[in-house]
Amino acid sequence: MEIREMQQKVYENKLKHGFNTTNVPLEFCLLEGELSEAFEAWIKKHDNMAEELADVGIYLMGLAEIVGVDLQTEIERKMAINEKREYVMVNGVLVKKGSRDDINVQKN
Ligand SMILES: [Mg+2]
Repeated sequence: MEIREMQQKVYENKLKHGFNTTNVPLEFCLLEGELSEAFEAWIKKHDNMAEELADVGIYLMGLAEIVGVDLQTEIERKMAINEKREYVMVNGVLVKKGSRDDINVQKN
């Protein structure tokens, strides 16, 4: 199943159960909550981390569908950009080549 199909199924499930599909700020908060749950599971070594990461993906796909974003297209587009990016080490941190952080170091 492709991501765009999954996000439609997530949205249909929200409708089926009467979950929120209109309050975008709430969906961002719920998504953040799922990420926090995944982090807590990881940091406390609970056995539900994978399930919480799945919740993050599900909430992300639901949010994308609510706001009309084809997440599959956008992920593929952004991954192509990221793959072509070049990075340089600045003060022990990788920064995008040509970015403000990179240029500021070159000036100094
Ligand atoms: Mg959860």
